Amino acid sequence: MSETIFSRIIRKEIPAKIVYEDELALAFHDVNPQAPVHVLVIPKKPIQSLAHATESDVVLLGHLQWVIQLVAKQLQIDETGYRVVTNIGRDGGQSVEHIHYHVLGGRPLSWPPG
Ligand code: AMP
Repeated sequence: MSETIFSRIIRKEIPAKIVYEDELALAFHDVNPQAPVHVLVIPKKPIQSLAHATESDVVLLGHLQWVIQLVAKQLQIDETGYRVVTNIGRDGGQSVEHIHYHVLGGRPLSWPPG
């Protein structure tokens, strides 16, 4: 897959408001927040989307969900609730081709999404 802006954030070549980092994952505030809390959780491994993950990524995908829970606690939306979204491909509205989980909270979120 080709280089994305998230690869450059992982390498610290461009700034991001990082809220969590470990050897496998990074979480940072979305530059165009859609809710009072809007964080992106990504793996450092450049997987294009959830549709491109393989069986060898199963442990990594589980780790990302664990990181989502940690970040939600850290940003104090764990008790009020939040939404986790991963957009996939054209119809899913994916604009950055590096798998990422949106973590949205801090206000009531409507359903269904647009
Ligand atoms: P998606 O449309 O699901 O691919 O989401 C990509 C998200 O990345 C959007 O919500 C953008 O606002 C966000 N984004 C793009 N560039 C940056 C950046 N440099 N720092 C933080 N978030 C970004």
